[in-house]
Amino acid sequence: MADLQTDVRYIKGIGEKKALALNKLGIFTLQDLVSFFPRRYEDRSQYKPIALTQDGESVCICALVADTPQLSRIRRGLDLVRFKAVDESGEVNITYFNQPYVKDNLHRGDAVVFFGRIEIKGTRRSMANPVYEREGMENRVTGRIVPIYRLSAGLNQRLLMQSVRQGLDSCGGLLPEVLPESVRERNQLVQARYAYENIHFPANFGALELARRRLIFEELFVLACALGRIRGERVREGGIPIGDADLETFWSVLPFRPTNAQCRAVDQAVADMRNGMVMNRLVQGDVGSGKTLVAAALIWYVWKSGLSSAFMAPTEILAEQHCETLTHLLGPFGMRIGKLTGAMTAKEKRAVKAALKEGELDLIIGTHALFSADVEYRNLGLVVTDEQHRFGVEQRAALIGKAGRPHVLVMSATPIPRTLALIIYGDLDVSIIDELPPGRQKVDTFAVDESYRVRLNGFIRKLTGEGRQVFVVCPMVEENEELAVPLKSAEEHAKELQQTFPELRVSCVHGRMKAKEKDAVMAAFVANETQILVSTTVIEVGVDVPNAALMIVENAERFGLSQLHQLRGRVGRGQHKSYCILVSDADNEEVKARLSILCKTNDGFQISEEDLRLRGPGDFFGSRQHGLPATHIADLGGDVAVLQRAQSEANALLAEDPQLERTENAALRESVERIFRQNTDSFN
Ligand code: ADP
Ligand code: MG
Repeated sequence: MADLQTDVRYIKGIGEKKALALNKLGIFTLQDLVSFFPRRYEDRSQYKPIALTQDGESVCICALVADTPQLSRIRRGLDLVRFKAVDESGEVNITYFNQPYVKDNLHRGDAVVFFGRIEIKGTRRSMANPVYEREGMENRVTGRIVPIYRLSAGLNQRLLMQSVRQGLDSCGGLLPEVLPESVRERNQLVQARYAYENIHFPANFGALELARRRLIFEELFVLACALGRIRGERVREGGIPIGDADLETFWSVLPFRPTNAQCRAVDQAVADMRNGMVMNRLVQGDVGSGKTLVAAALIWYVWKSGLSSAFMAPTEILAEQHCETLTHLLGPFGMRIGKLTGAMTAKEKRAVKAALKEGELDLIIGTHALFSADVEYRNLGLVVTDEQHRFGVEQRAALIGKAGRPHVLVMSATPIPRTLALIIYGDLDVSIIDELPPGRQKVDTFAVDESYRVRLNGFIRKLTGEGRQVFVVCPMVEENEELAVPLKSAEEHAKELQQTFPELRVSCVHGRMKAKEKDAVMAAFVANETQILVSTTVIEVGVDVPNAALMIVENAERFGLSQLHQLRGRVGRGQHKSYCILVSDADNEEVKARLSILCKTNDGFQISEEDLRLRGPGDFFGSRQHGLPATHIADLGGDVAVLQRAQSEANALLAEDPQLERTENAALRESVERIFRQNTDSFN
């Protein structure tokens, strides 16, 4: 007797090989199988008499095979089976290319349903490669809305469909009802059994819609419960106690006033740390909104309680810059600041590690090296990570092992549509810095094509003549990539520019260089020893060169809008009027529409919303850049209203039963735990 955990191997028609192909799709058990939802559907529900079919339409026809199918070889590698099919109203020529076996499957006089695209030339109708099946067959692939699944090598649609059918027949009745009845009723959602049946084999489009609505809700509800539970658990953990300090002492030494948004973020973080829980806060703010200062204030605050901080940057270059900035801000208070990166010599590293172990440093800035096994901390109170995904489980465990339970501040410049921040960072508290420091100039942005090259070079000459510097970004070239539009490689482009501008110094930094080499090139640019820096996107995050007033992005069509916005944020950081030029020769309306958004606005949130709208949430979330579990059916961008309903229902339920211990919530609890098991790297 099969149950939901039965291995797919035991399905009729699934042998060892096909089971492996299913495993590739993440399908191991019958439960996985019935939860493997179709990617799309094909409407094969319409039947028509042959004579009423229209040119170009896809329909089913019920017909008789009117002559014996003939196999002919047109040429090597091209076989053709052809015959006529008729009904009371007319006839149609049917052809199959390279499917010689059709000749043996169909015989004169057979009653067959064909589904395909009708073509009409003059009065003659034809159908090429139609789907067919004998009238009255089971597992029908015609005469209904047919599911289309994602496949892996060794599988085909029919096999997958049959397997799902068997899965549903053998254990559809065992599917647990994850949604509490009251939730289901309040939100008018259909029952699990009905939903699973109709998501695969919809009786009609209305039923499909009901099924989808319920399953989307369920998925988001379970996700919200999972995230809510983490948040709930966190509050109970004992955070490292932080004392009192007067932030005004810190603010007052700055050359400028913090913005209201910066103050608010700092106050929220301080409140977290002081109320006894472990802070786990995300500070989200557009490029240039001044996140570093927020971190500095908190590092200072924690230091006032006798605790040290660690600041982790994603790259060596950034670690270097942050070290400079923070030393500048915090050094005057007498804080002892150190650096630990992979580029340092073994001797230097040893010295820093010894100092950390002895508690001789109040702030350590570095890359991932900060959390390698041989680094020991004394009194670590706060960990800041910049422009970095949140910690995975392993890093978190490493941290806890090292340092008790330090407070964690994550800083991200990836703007996320406001409506989504809540669910995406549902397990973190979020502060949003929605205000730029005063006096910031708008970066004028233009999208141009190759025909502007000469003018563009003239512009470079003008700005560098005024003493400014220029960033040029080229896309990363994947090896063996077939390209419609030729790409500028950073190295070659740098050579060309050097020839065009013999009087300037052009340097180049790219991902294949060693960290030390990159650092040297960056340092030279920061010091204005070179005027044009050509790079791949390694400079995307954080680098601060206030004298740079021009950002040129080559092959701009290759970048996402948010990414371009980040790149643009590299200029306009000083007092000079700054520009961003997006060069693209792609002759494509969609690309043009996308780039024009950047020319129109400087608001990162608005840009990400547009990006989401244009590219669709699949792309936005497909890369899983936010570390959220992949959803099967819910579309985190489009289903915002459902998301909010699901979230508030989840919160209400967790308020009553925080651990999901009640018997009636057992199935839900199991689903929540399944998410944790499947996504160990997503949750921290
Ligand atoms: P990001 O949020 O992109 O990390 P940074 O922290 O690098 O931004 O800050 C960008 C620039 O703005 C820095 O040069 C910083 O000194 C400056 N800055 C930050 N806060 C303020 C403020 N309140 N007033 C004026 N300038 C500020
Ligand atoms: Mg930054």
